[in-house]
Amino acid sequence: EARFNIPHITDVFPDAVSYPSTFCLKMRTPVSEEFAEGYPSDEKWHGYINNNDRVLLKVINYSSPSSAGAECIDPNCSWVEQWVHRAGPREKIFFKPEEVKAAIVTCGGLCPGLNDVIRQIVITLEIYGVKQIVGIPFGYRGFSEKDLAEMPLSRKVVQNVHLSGGSLLGVSRGGPKVSDIVDSIQERGINMLFVLGGNGTHAGANAIHDECRRRRIKVAVVGVPKTIDNDIMLMDKTFGFDTAVEEAQRAINSAYIEAHSAYRGIGIVKLMGRSSGFIAMQASLASGQIDICLIPEVPFNLHGPHGVLRHLRYLLETKGSAVVCAAEGAGQDFLEKTNAKDASGNAVLGDIGVYLQQEIKKYFKEIGGADVKYIDPTYMIRACRANASDGILCTVLGQNAVHGAFAGYSGITVGICNTHYVYFPIPEVISKPRVIFGTIEGNVGSVGKDATLGNGGNVAAVGKFGIFGMLGIVGIFGSDGMFGIG
Ligand code: ATP
Ligand code: MG
Repeated sequence: EARFNIPHITDVFPDAVSYPSTFCLKMRTPVSEEFAEGYPSDEKWHGYINNNDRVLLKVINYSSPSSAGAECIDPNCSWVEQWVHRAGPREKIFFKPEEVKAAIVTCGGLCPGLNDVIRQIVITLEIYGVKQIVGIPFGYRGFSEKDLAEMPLSRKVVQNVHLSGGSLLGVSRGGPKVSDIVDSIQERGINMLFVLGGNGTHAGANAIHDECRRRRIKVAVVGVPKTIDNDIMLMDKTFGFDTAVEEAQRAINSAYIEAHSAYRGIGIVKLMGRSSGFIAMQASLASGQIDICLIPEVPFNLHGPHGVLRHLRYLLETKGSAVVCAAEGAGQDFLEKTNAKDASGNAVLGDIGVYLQQEIKKYFKEIGGADVKYIDPTYMIRACRANASDGILCTVLGQNAVHGAFAGYSGITVGICNTHYVYFPIPEVISKPRVIFGTIEGNVGSVGKDATLGNGGNVAAVGKFGIFGMLGIVGIFGSDGMFGIG
């Protein structure tokens, strides 16, 4: 059995005082009165989560127990179970609400649902009785830029922010050194920090947590993973992803209509996904209008008998039009490397959409031409308001982030795992991006030329063109159904 242990305040402050939580009592009183007769034991259905409650993450059969890197109960067994801490309110809390100054910061790029999470963190903090809640403007930069003032937050301020996209607090990349951020946290008297962002932001949050530990200051640093790409390890899904897939349908449908209405029309839609093609794959599957889906996980050829261009030619000859969906990280090998980096140090990717458009035009020039239209809906999708399903996810994540901080955990992030809400130690989820065709461990499996197995039997096969089959259906994924690949 292996457990992901999450850092707790008592690890460094063994004498830390705990207080009885009033969170559930406040929630419970009106409900138990109303339903007193029907529910003899309200403790059972409005109780607290026990610190020892775990959720089963996975059961793995290793060829040798040592390769599991985990303790096995039986040294000869090669089955390892991994358990994660269940999220939720605890009976004992490690901060007195009236002594809390909580700060929220949003970093990286935009993602639908940021405002929903901010809103729910504020509301939950208020339910605990916290009076001092502030927003740090424009990401980690807000800790150092002198002209950026803290934004006081309350239920009144956040009540309707979820009705629009973006981030109430603003976002940014780059920013001050970790030690400067922690100096600023100390100066401001912040003792709970909620960090909303992707892998970079979480690396920062973990470094802030470590630095606070090193200085022995009692600060709870809790992350909420924000990645529209859905590329965070061990989580069922991250907020914003569902909205992105839904919103991408509009772009795909437009590309389809353009391609379908043009003489020898080809539509290209580029969707988010730097290292993982989840959005492109799901949006393609949902739309039923994509002929070729290109994702970073699957290498493909443009030219040659098994290349994308040859297949497009076949589609124009047989159907008269075609639509391609490409994840932004697909086919980067074809593009000239610039070595350019953004303010956070992430590599700037080449535009696969523009490249495909140029190559397709060139290829068809001598053979009847093609009317190629390229749509990049990235910024339209990122700025959307969260849909209902993401709204729910954000709400529960926001609540649990606050419960985790009050419970005394720090250096953790909240996620949904096997449908349960849980706390992960930050380093476990940002060690590498989650990818399609990942093995159960999250590594990329052997992606062969024709057919390879993926993730827990869900993904069936990879075609020669980087076209996939799902749920046991092997072959080219065509807009008018499935058909085999030679
Ligand atoms: P997105 O998914 O939008 O890229 P992200 O959180 O990965 O989100 P980044 O721009 O990479 O976005 O990083 C956000 C913030 O985290 C930046 O302010 C950056 O300076 C900081 N950061 C990134 N990596 C680290 C790191 N290894 N240590 C400390 N801070 C980091
Ligand atoms: Mg990132």
